[in-house]
Amino acid sequence: MTTAPVPKSQHPKDDTKHDPNDQDQFLTILSREEALARFEAALFPRAIPSEPRALAAALSCALARDVVAPIDVPPFDRANVDGFAVRSADLASAGESAPVRVTLNDEVIACGVAPTRPVLSGTATSIATGGPLPRGADAVVMIEHTQPASSGAIEIRRAASPGQFISYAGSDIARGETLLRAGTVIGSREIGICAACGIAELAVARRPRVAVLSTGDELVQPGRPLGPAEIYDTNGAIVTAAVTENGGEAVFLGAVPDDEVRLEAAMRDALASSDMLVLSGGTSKGAGDLSHRIIARLGQPGIIAHGVALKPGKPLCLAVCDGKPVVILPGFPTSAMFTFHDMIAPLLRRMAGLPPRADATVTATIPVRIASELGRTEFVMVSLVDGADGLIAYPTGKGSGAITSFAQADGFLKIDALADQMRAGTQAEVRLFTRHLRVPDLVIIGSHCTGLDLVTAPLAQAGLLVRSIAVGSLGGLAAARRGECDLAPIHLFDDKSESYNTPFLAEGLELVPGWRRMQGIVFRQGDSRFAGLGADNAVRAALADPWCIMVNRNQGAGTRILIDRLLAGARPDGYWNQPKSHTAVAAAVAQHRADWGMTIAPVAHAAGLGFIPLAEEHYDFALVTARKSRPAVQAFLQALASDESRAALAQVGFRPA
Ligand code: AMP
Ligand code: MG
Repeated sequence: MTTAPVPKSQHPKDDTKHDPNDQDQFLTILSREEALARFEAALFPRAIPSEPRALAAALSCALARDVVAPIDVPPFDRANVDGFAVRSADLASAGESAPVRVTLNDEVIACGVAPTRPVLSGTATSIATGGPLPRGADAVVMIEHTQPASSGAIEIRRAASPGQFISYAGSDIARGETLLRAGTVIGSREIGICAACGIAELAVARRPRVAVLSTGDELVQPGRPLGPAEIYDTNGAIVTAAVTENGGEAVFLGAVPDDEVRLEAAMRDALASSDMLVLSGGTSKGAGDLSHRIIARLGQPGIIAHGVALKPGKPLCLAVCDGKPVVILPGFPTSAMFTFHDMIAPLLRRMAGLPPRADATVTATIPVRIASELGRTEFVMVSLVDGADGLIAYPTGKGSGAITSFAQADGFLKIDALADQMRAGTQAEVRLFTRHLRVPDLVIIGSHCTGLDLVTAPLAQAGLLVRSIAVGSLGGLAAARRGECDLAPIHLFDDKSESYNTPFLAEGLELVPGWRRMQGIVFRQGDSRFAGLGADNAVRAALADPWCIMVNRNQGAGTRILIDRLLAGARPDGYWNQPKSHTAVAAAVAQHRADWGMTIAPVAHAAGLGFIPLAEEHYDFALVTARKSRPAVQAFLQALASDESRAALAQVGFRPA
């Protein structure tokens, strides 16, 4: 192995321009608690600025001051039912067999009509629900308990107690009463209370303006085409949304290249016009590690923590520059999200006058051992599924670079810094991302295939929640054996029996045929070494060319067995490049990192590559027999067998079994 020379200006020891303290801070990794405590101490207490907001625009804002009722609600005594305003004393003797006859006053009090005539003894006034009670009346009788007598009179068949069917002025809200407390988050109910009292404007905590900047030469904004070696700026969108979710007014300023001069200018501009600055990327030690050096020049006291014993999230950098928090989140989107939610959101909420988030928690069993790094508080994202004895928490992590692990998770659990693992079977507390947990109706754990999404589409349309967790065929089989899923999609080839999947079924599992996926040689269109040849000849041509590089598959993959057979003992360049998916093989060929490999036809076609078919792979389902009668499983089996799914599968190049 050779080591690339480090350019002089990027070598830490040669870099004499840097503040020496900077290096010290970088070397001191603080515990999560210590880092938070120092950060909070540098920021609080602080005044929370307020601003007036029109009632409708105050939704989701935090109240800056208590709200006191300016009027009584209702403002006058009013009728609760449609009927007649009466004097209760007149009806003392009334009963079913002894109706009392009263004369009607010459007015009808509808809603919004102020009464003009008093109710004198022996009279009644027609009144609608919500109408103001006239002078003299002390009760309302329901229209159902009366009947018309001769013209201008009614008979009442029930006695009435004083106050009957009346809401008195101020009985709902009394003038001077404290209706809402400072810090309350305004929802529709709070808006209703204010509207009832005629309040049109509220003093709310001003949302802190949070500037969001992504850093990295490789970043492209969504909506633009990706060049070679470029990736989409994920953190910009995540952080902007997460700031908004937590009471901030996010101002996304785009991505800045790893250029010290441009980055410093962008950071200074951002900070000048906002209350807080959140950057992402550039925190790991390396060529692009600029932002924390710049922070040291932006204000006092500067960096509070650079390096926190958190996983994911170790390179987090926390700073305060002249009273404003400046945060550099790690570059990997999952790490950025975690550190934001764990360390930054609580602080932002406090600055926004919001209460701490009330996250719901549930207890769940861990199905597989989770290894953990000693000395770092580790957060593990989990998907929750229903097991025989309660909830089961499946780790969804694919490493800190995977965004889907976050999107598909229901919540996360925490492994203490002092533990090096969490054993299978442990009961762990899971903090949910949402207030309420919705356990999926159908759980599919195993190897993922784009065809699966076509089959489950009608289930989702029918309102069923389908959770698919990609752990590979063997992981899926293990989950199925433990009864943690309904179905495990597998494509395992048994060398001895030369057959797919069936030899791998354990007791309690049955095979549901899925579809066939044509495997074959993938190459770039027009590559004359392969075009027009059969698989055997194509591999022969590849082996004959010393410049030709292949991409292999991982041990254990059925496709790998096919490749090894074709190679017949040869070990060409690229043999040790062994990605774990059909997609990765196609990407390697499309991007010229390799010239050929073996993948499945739909993947090759989707990548615009040439394809030489060789042998079909069987993508089937190991069904947990004990779960077969569940409605969602039945719905899946029906969908799988339906003409619509079969047509949809065939359309993209699969052959339904
Ligand atoms: P860095 O700390 O800048 O070295 O970034 C670490 C990793 O995160 C690299 O693979 C970056 O490409 C990636 N990364 C940094 N910023 C972003 C971003 N805004 N969106 C997606 N990935 C990012
Ligand atoms: Mg970077």
